[in-house]
Amino acid sequence: MAKLIDWIRRASVQLLDPQREERIDYFARNVASRLKSDRGAFNFDALVTSLEIQPRDIPLVQERVYEFACKKAWRDRQISEEEKKGLDWVARSVMLPEKNAEQVAFRVGLEVFQEVLSDAVADGRIEPAELEELQQVAACIGTSVRDLVTRYFSDWAEGFLRAMFMKMIEDGELSHREWSHLVASAEAIGLKENELLDSIRVQAERFVEHVLIDAKADGQLSEEEESTLAFLMERLKLSPRFRTYAEGEIRELKQITDILKGRLPSLNVHLTGRRNTEIVHFEGPGSYEEVKHLKSGQQRVLHEGRVLITNCRLIFESPARTFDLNHRRVTRIAPRGDTLELSATGRGNGRYTFGSDSKLAFLIYEAAVRKANQTLVEQVDGLPTRHIPRDVRQRVYQKYGGRCAECGSNQYLEFDHIIPVTKGGSNSEQNVQLLCRRCNLNKSDKI
Ligand SMILES: [Zn+2]
Repeated sequence: MAKLIDWIRRASVQLLDPQREERIDYFARNVASRLKSDRGAFNFDALVTSLEIQPRDIPLVQERVYEFACKKAWRDRQISEEEKKGLDWVARSVMLPEKNAEQVAFRVGLEVFQEVLSDAVADGRIEPAELEELQQVAACIGTSVRDLVTRYFSDWAEGFLRAMFMKMIEDGELSHREWSHLVASAEAIGLKENELLDSIRVQAERFVEHVLIDAKADGQLSEEEESTLAFLMERLKLSPRFRTYAEGEIRELKQITDILKGRLPSLNVHLTGRRNTEIVHFEGPGSYEEVKHLKSGQQRVLHEGRVLITNCRLIFESPARTFDLNHRRVTRIAPRGDTLELSATGRGNGRYTFGSDSKLAFLIYEAAVRKANQTLVEQVDGLPTRHIPRDVRQRVYQKYGGRCAECGSNQYLEFDHIIPVTKGGSNSEQNVQLLCRRCNLNKSDKI
């Protein structure tokens, strides 16, 4: 505030009396050189008279002389006891009131601090020697680094830490070492970890989303990805809404990982006619669209009911139609959006939906069939096993700025092959885009 008032005062003076600035400077230089030559014999009043300094200019000349002396003393970026005494002598000699002297000294000190601070962070990191210099400057001003940064440079400091964080996560990773370094840098300029977390919250959320998309790219959570995510969720300050979202996504990815590894859930569900060693992996509302081949042509009949997936069969139950389809009779599984097209020998051909979490149900079904057969069942697109190289994922993420190519959303993002792999699409940068789950589902409905 004091700085602002000072600035307004100077600016209005500049407007009303454009030559004043030069005049003050001229007088101040004269006074300073006489101080140096006259020493103990210096007489301010006599000099004011001989230089014909107007009374209204006197306060500014006094301040300017003292400012020169301060700047000179700060040249080595510190003020010694000797220099402090010298400065006091200058203030007394030009009869500058103590309060004004303090203000000028603080202003000059702050400028020096700013200079040292920008030098220290110029290379994006703060070395111990640089920190020591900052502390030294702050001590000379009579305060601490934290006090100066939080009072005068907090926006700047937050910007600096944010830039540092962004640089660290550019490669899509954040190591423990990088994080400790960031925390140490924040502490070096006087900010606590909590304040650091506040200033990078938005970037942190986008980064967690980035790690999630990467993990989803190969459809499963590697141990490394899991520990990175756990580390980020624990360390970063995220909004409650985002946290809930991210935790849900991680849980789902973990489930998918388990399923792809053949670890299927085992549910405690009642099953009529349960066979020996039969385990229920999935149970939920579902539908079955039966294709009837009549003389008049094809007729499709939709049955709404309940679906169960066990380790040996799929069971569909509805008022009009109940049957089971042994995994060994399945010849082809093709997910189409949220319906699953099944081909089998005997009954059970048709399209199925498996409740609200169709993706997970499809994976469970697919894994159960694969396990039961020990042989290959033809797999058709839709399962997240198509590998996109890491560098391609990185470039695609940058290209779309971490947002859905269709709607711009920055959540529920997935890498998508523009031309599906099954239709000859490649894993190249040109054929991969970022889509949110909803836009991705809309797209697969159209294909
Ligand atoms: Zn979208």
